[in-house]
Amino acid sequence: MILGCHVNFGSEQLFGSAKQAIGYGCNAFMFYTGAPQNTIRKKLDESLILNAKKYMKENNILMENVICHAPYIINLANRSDETRWQFSINFLKNEILRCEEMGVTRIVLHPGSAVGISKEEGIQNIIDGLNRVILENQKCVILLETMAGKGSECGSTLSEIKAILDGVNVKSLFGVCLDTCHLHDAGYDMHDFNAFLNEFDQEIGLSKILCVHLNDSKNEMGTHKDRHENIGFGKIGFDSLLSICYSEKLKEVPKILETPYLGENKEDKKRIYPPYAFEINMLKQKQFCLSLYEDVVHFYKKDL
Ligand code: FE
Ligand code: FE
Ligand code: ZN
Repeated sequence: MILGCHVNFGSEQLFGSAKQAIGYGCNAFMFYTGAPQNTIRKKLDESLILNAKKYMKENNILMENVICHAPYIINLANRSDETRWQFSINFLKNEILRCEEMGVTRIVLHPGSAVGISKEEGIQNIIDGLNRVILENQKCVILLETMAGKGSECGSTLSEIKAILDGVNVKSLFGVCLDTCHLHDAGYDMHDFNAFLNEFDQEIGLSKILCVHLNDSKNEMGTHKDRHENIGFGKIGFDSLLSICYSEKLKEVPKILETPYLGENKEDKKRIYPPYAFEINMLKQKQFCLSLYEDVVHFYKKDL
């Protein structure tokens, strides 16, 4: 099973991310190359990349199981302001360049939000944008993430994802990232994952699935909310997430947790403790742990 979680990309860059992932018991991980909500990017350090590669090799993390997540300020669907649309294209290009520099071969992208226009127009803008993004000799594959359909998000149905995949010129450079919370919130039943995979296979083809975001959901199916929940504590539930995690058809596909941090910082009420080591352990042991919250908080508090 290829299982990991979202990790930081701090001062040690990819090397730091890899170390954090190993600490949680991962053999895959996902990172943002900088803050997801802004465009400040530090220059990549070549020796840290080399360290990361060596360390990953020693710890059996394959590069194909390392995922970059593009920042969500990129919105290719909205072209009402041509300069901003161009900015999104250039910024995504730059992120792909950074991936190429590190040898990272997969980048997840939120397709975009169709603000003030129809979804069809939004999808056409996404296609036109993506066709301008592709670099010469690009190796990094862009994974379109399935979205919850919050507001005017494009990509919350398989037919929307398919429309984008059909529209791009270089088909081999595109794939799909399934997000279980988003799919559930978009109205797809994650309790019958095999039925969903059959539908996906007929519409798009299973070989396009190159990443899974494994998250529970705070809300009922079809509510288009996008609020992630810890594994087994939401409306999808432990057993369904476990069977997705162990799905024979997605054996080679990395599963990445993006579940909420636990505990609370008294000053700013921010959640502060990463639950990943504990959730990964639950999934490996195939055993739900009702005291996850207490266990995580207890573990990190005694560390301080
Ligand atoms: Fe995402
Ligand atoms: Fe996600
Ligand atoms: Zn989400």
